[in-house]
Amino acid sequence: TKQPVRVAVTGAAGQIGYSLLFRIASGDMLGKDQPVILQLLEITPALKALNGVVMELRDCAFPLLADIVTSDDPMVAFKDADYALLVGAMPRKAGMERGDLLGANGGIFKPQGEALNAVASRDVKVLVVGNPANTNALIAQQNAPDLDAGQFTAMVRLDHNRAISQLAEKTGKPVSSIKNLTIWGNHSSTQYPDLSQATVDGQPALDQVDRDWYEQQYISTVAKRGAAIIEARGLSSAASAASAAIDHMRDWALGTPEGEWVSMGIPSDGSYGIPEGLIYGFPVTCKNGKYEIVQGLPVSDFSRGKMDATAQELTEERDEVRKLGLV
Ligand code: NDP
Repeated sequence: TKQPVRVAVTGAAGQIGYSLLFRIASGDMLGKDQPVILQLLEITPALKALNGVVMELRDCAFPLLADIVTSDDPMVAFKDADYALLVGAMPRKAGMERGDLLGANGGIFKPQGEALNAVASRDVKVLVVGNPANTNALIAQQNAPDLDAGQFTAMVRLDHNRAISQLAEKTGKPVSSIKNLTIWGNHSSTQYPDLSQATVDGQPALDQVDRDWYEQQYISTVAKRGAAIIEARGLSSAASAASAAIDHMRDWALGTPEGEWVSMGIPSDGSYGIPEGLIYGFPVTCKNGKYEIVQGLPVSDFSRGKMDATAQELTEERDEVRKLGLV
């Protein structure tokens, strides 16, 4: 049997945490043969609620759940962590400017980056879910100079999964027939869900839907799906966000299927003309615990415009956090 690995989760008593922890503990993320130790971080006032979640986790009697640690100190929660899912973040409140939001989150992600740098496993894989996820990931990464920048990623997988589901619905085909679409850029309204390389049952997706629907409806439906769920449910999309986080980490750790790619927010190496260092959604394949950007895809003028616009937004966010001294 395998040795347990350590999985740190922040914001563990929140809505996403409530879906996420049970999936990790049941083996959905790292495999049905991989025991896990959960290391859960919360802010001090949420520790009591977190204790209730821990009681439920224990009551599930998950065979793979080797131990649970809780703390309000990132130096404890990230100690020797092999995986870190940074979910807890400062939500945007009414009237908040982007600078205020980034500043508030800097107060969370700077110390967390420093703590990961100090105590996490040297091979830690970090996924930032808490919004604004890409720039929060940048802040954590920049404050962890002893770790490789590529160990820090941001979640665009929920957008990727939403894009698959919308295309499946439109074409009347199962989600499993859809391959190789990409979410480029920021997890925000400027993201670019790109169908130019996508296939449905092996045939080009764009031959099966009309161009107007794609440009005028599809892209914004995917980008605004979160708001539609809040409107319908009265609460945000926590279960699907948790499920996407599981998908992201599972594919990174265990690999993507041959001939298929997924979307991950990762530090740009300059590929596709995206400014180096930005945490940007790219098409990637994963193997042996490493991801690689899918190279050489053709980029139309339409795509170029969308890819540059979302890069521009991330550049502005980076400028803002530079001004605040966070990176
Ligand atoms: P959720 O668990 O619903 O969301 C957590 C974060 O994930 C938010 O930043 C949210 O962004 C983001 N997110 C990303 N994708 C989605 C999506 N599709 N749907 C919903 N959210 C998404 O928030 P809760 O308020 O329920 O829980 C947050 C917890 O984090 C609280 O328990 C709080 O105490 C804790 N916290 C912990 C910290 C720490 O450990 N140091 C620091 C700060 C908070 P958005 O706001 O844009 O929806």
